[in-house]
Amino acid sequence: MSLKLPVYLDYHATTPVDPRVFEAMRPYFSEHFGNAASTSHVFGWRAEAAVTKAREALAALVGANPREIVFTSGATESNNLAILGAARARHAPHAHVVTSAIEHRAVLDPCRRLESEGFAVTYLTPDAHGVTSASAVADALTERTVLVSVMAANNEIGTLNPVAEIARVCKERGILFHTDAAQALGKIPLDVHALGLDLVSLSAHKVCGPKGVGALFVRAVNPRVRLDPIVFGGGHERGLRSGTLDVTGIVGFGAAAEIVRAEGEAEARRVSALRDRLWERLLSRVDGLSRNGHPAACHPGNLNVTIPDAPADAVMAEARDLAVSSGSACTSAEAAPSHVLLALGRTRVEAEASIRFGLGRFTTQEEVDWAADEVARAVAKVRARRPR
Ligand SMILES: *Cc1c(COP(=O)(O)O)cnc(C)c1O
Repeated sequence: MSLKLPVYLDYHATTPVDPRVFEAMRPYFSEHFGNAASTSHVFGWRAEAAVTKAREALAALVGANPREIVFTSGATESNNLAILGAARARHAPHAHVVTSAIEHRAVLDPCRRLESEGFAVTYLTPDAHGVTSASAVADALTERTVLVSVMAANNEIGTLNPVAEIARVCKERGILFHTDAAQALGKIPLDVHALGLDLVSLSAHKVCGPKGVGALFVRAVNPRVRLDPIVFGGGHERGLRSGTLDVTGIVGFGAAAEIVRAEGEAEARRVSALRDRLWERLLSRVDGLSRNGHPAACHPGNLNVTIPDAPADAVMAEARDLAVSSGSACTSAEAAPSHVLLALGRTRVEAEASIRFGLGRFTTQEEVDWAADEVARAVAKVRARRPR
């Protein structure tokens, strides 16, 4: 089998749209162009029926009731709606929010925003593996805590958090629990009611669906979660997210959810075996490697490594046909050393010598073997030209 270059191992940033998802979406770009809010004709009815089907598929995947799913433009918007919406609906003097220092920027930035509105926010430092424990959360709760937000799976190091335990601690105190599950969806079992979650952010383009569509699970009973909307308009999505629905994108998200439900478990097993193979192969070819994240509680497609004496940007410049992410450009909009790796105790130099590999649905063994050899070649070259 011949290897096709370039090789994409950056599945945490985004994923290719599954061809089956694309085929499901196609008619909604053309003949089925109706507005799902048009109630007076068949074009609108068809669009609405398609949205309903997608909503049911996504709800079934996460164990929710369809009316608990609010479609958004992505996990960024879902995080904003969950955090700003839940906190503002519970506004009180010195109201308090707990989160972790290694959340995605789409959680940290709304929390900063809340601080400017008078909320107090605690940013928990995780342990050396990136875990935020339920006991750490419990210790941070006060009489004034209204919301806890801790991600299910980290997008840089793949670490999985004990969200069921954190949810239990919150529930005992009557505090809402939100989790950013953009990386967890389809990779680990995610049953919102079994886990006791109140608010869950999801994104289509991390599960081989289209970019620009996401969802927020909003628990409807025990408790019924109230949110202040952040977008106002026509009152779509039960008033929580106004704006004409992206019917095509939502159809794609639904199709992606159906595939994940049928194949997610087998895919996670296959991908984690490839990830382990990549790690072994890198270990045998590159001196001084160390791994970031949790050795066991880890996203199946994630491998984050620190390579001493080999700045990631130099390695990536040398290995042009390999698409991975460096520990300094994780949000790509700005090139600062990763706040995640720094919070784990890595130095700035170590963070900048770290590479994130993200494997997924279409990753092959040939690609993994080539990638390991290519990184080894690039590291040797970078090290050879560094002054000693
Ligand atoms: C990708 C990602 C987001 C942002 O999702 P979008 O749908 O791109 O807005 C948020 N949180 C995590 C953990 C992610 O991996």
